Amino acid sequence: MRDILVAGNWKMNGSMAANEALLSGVVAGVPAGDGFRLLVCAPFVYLSAVAGLLKGSGIALGAQNVSEHDSGAFTGEISPSMLSDVGCQYVIVGHSERRAMYGESSADVAAKFKAAQGAGLIPILCVGETLDEREAGTTGSVIDEQLDAVLAGSGAAAFGAAVIAYEPVWAIGTGKTATPEQAQDVHRHIRGRLAAQDAELAEKVQILYGGSMKGDNAPGLLNMPDIDGGLIGGASLKANDFLAIAAAAAQNQNG
Ligand code: PEP
Repeated sequence: MRDILVAGNWKMNGSMAANEALLSGVVAGVPAGDGFRLLVCAPFVYLSAVAGLLKGSGIALGAQNVSEHDSGAFTGEISPSMLSDVGCQYVIVGHSERRAMYGESSADVAAKFKAAQGAGLIPILCVGETLDEREAGTTGSVIDEQLDAVLAGSGAAAFGAAVIAYEPVWAIGTGKTATPEQAQDVHRHIRGRLAAQDAELAEKVQILYGGSMKGDNAPGLLNMPDIDGGLIGGASLKANDFLAIAAAAAQNQNG
């Protein structure tokens, strides 16, 4: 049985005051139970403060991006070891906003994945197709290209310490959610791709769904056999919305 991971991606939102208010609500409302974990991925500048706010809560801390380099003349970049140093355990790599708006290729993402693991971070590798790609029937090959770049760079064994997030681009921030069946189909495909290289490991990898996940659609998605949690944007910015998804995870895990 795989644990469920409920990961909030705050994107470029928050302030010192807003983060404190949000996290005091989240920390106070973490559901009882085990078999699930909560994570918040905050903007770089707030990571240290958020680490302090999360202390003792059991909620993990992550970043939203990372450099593929470990130090040196890379103005404006943040290295994997810096993220570890301020208390991050996770880092998102290859979010579709970074691929689309900042030109990150699958090779760039593979390099970030490798560097993150080198510093002891757990990368959350985002993969997903656009609406055009889905309508053209190329969802599988798009995902394969994104996944294969990391498999080529780090090997299948690297997924023993990584998380994958299937995020259909057409569902991110749009209010359109993949149906549980649509998501399950792709999650099964991803697990199958890994299983072709290492079947035992593929069974252990957490594969999250991301794309307008909310308290009301989370139970149906989390109920699917290959969906092991969520990467949550909008609904991670309000304590009650995030906690509603956490409650669905706790419920799902506890039967
Ligand atoms: C995301 O940014 O990863 C995401 C899934 O956003 P939203 O939940 O707002 O669709």
